Amino acid sequence: MRAFSYEKATSAEAAARAAAAHDGARFIAGGTNLLDLMKLEIETPVHLIDVNGTGLDQITETADGGLRIGALVRNTALAADPRVRAGWPVLTRALVAGASGQLRNKATTAGNLLQRTRCPYFYDTAQPCNKRSPGAGCAAQSAGAFSRQLGIIGISDACIATHPSDMAVAMRVLDAVVETVTPEGETRAIPIADFHRLPGDTPEQDSVLRPGEMITAVTLPAPVGGAQAYHKVRDRASYAFALVSVALIRQPDGTGRVALGGVAPKPWRRAEADAELPNGAAAVMARLLDGARPTDENAFKITLAERALAALLAEG
Ligand code: SF4
Repeated sequence: MRAFSYEKATSAEAAARAAAAHDGARFIAGGTNLLDLMKLEIETPVHLIDVNGTGLDQITETADGGLRIGALVRNTALAADPRVRAGWPVLTRALVAGASGQLRNKATTAGNLLQRTRCPYFYDTAQPCNKRSPGAGCAAQSAGAFSRQLGIIGISDACIATHPSDMAVAMRVLDAVVETVTPEGETRAIPIADFHRLPGDTPEQDSVLRPGEMITAVTLPAPVGGAQAYHKVRDRASYAFALVSVALIRQPDGTGRVALGGVAPKPWRRAEADAELPNGAAAVMARLLDGARPTDENAFKITLAERALAALLAEG
């Protein structure tokens, strides 16, 4: 690990200003991803800004019946909150499907959104990776590469990595909004649909955050009701990232919403696929995964996604 300087921020605005004042600064809260990346020298920040003292650890009700989740709310606390369990149960189900109990105790709402991909070549510094070293190439797309875990849609010739979060998939199906503050003190409200980027030619940029901009909260709109479920298919029963995950909200009349994890660089949802829910899983996936470009190793994800949704729909 390389040497770095460290400071504690006491407000989000001060943290954002400090980040803008140091080239190569990073915020740190739970550190469940960043510290691993620093040990491997994949991330080499020269300055760490500890945001644990910024007071953003509360869950509050909004005037329109929604919830405002502070950036520092730990995944365990969010999953267990009685209001979340009653009104937005798909979020609780997605959270408890993620990582391990110890990691969920430390991991924060903002950090979960900002975690980096688990592409094995991103973590192997002996391999070329455009996300880690722009312009280096993509080892995951070389002949014989191991791409079983990687993306099938929304990907590019530069990068086929997936976003690993379970929480973000539930937030996508709930139409959450990410709130931020910039170093200039301005605030932004970014729909989660627009928060994570597709790789295109610049896979090193995972989100639309600007330099120094800090997440302060995620807001959930008022509960939409319906039967809510999250189904995660993975290689191990726990402590594994999704091969495919499905977040589903289904209303009594058969309409609803669907988002997928494990298939794309961001939580994957399309309005035209939601509209096909009354017509069954095959009809939904024909729209949701239209244009998929899988590798030989991960083409199974198309069938797996359809069957995972069909299993949830069969539960009623
Ligand atoms: Fe890097 Fe993306 Fe290629 Fe993985 S898929 S090696 S993260 S560029």
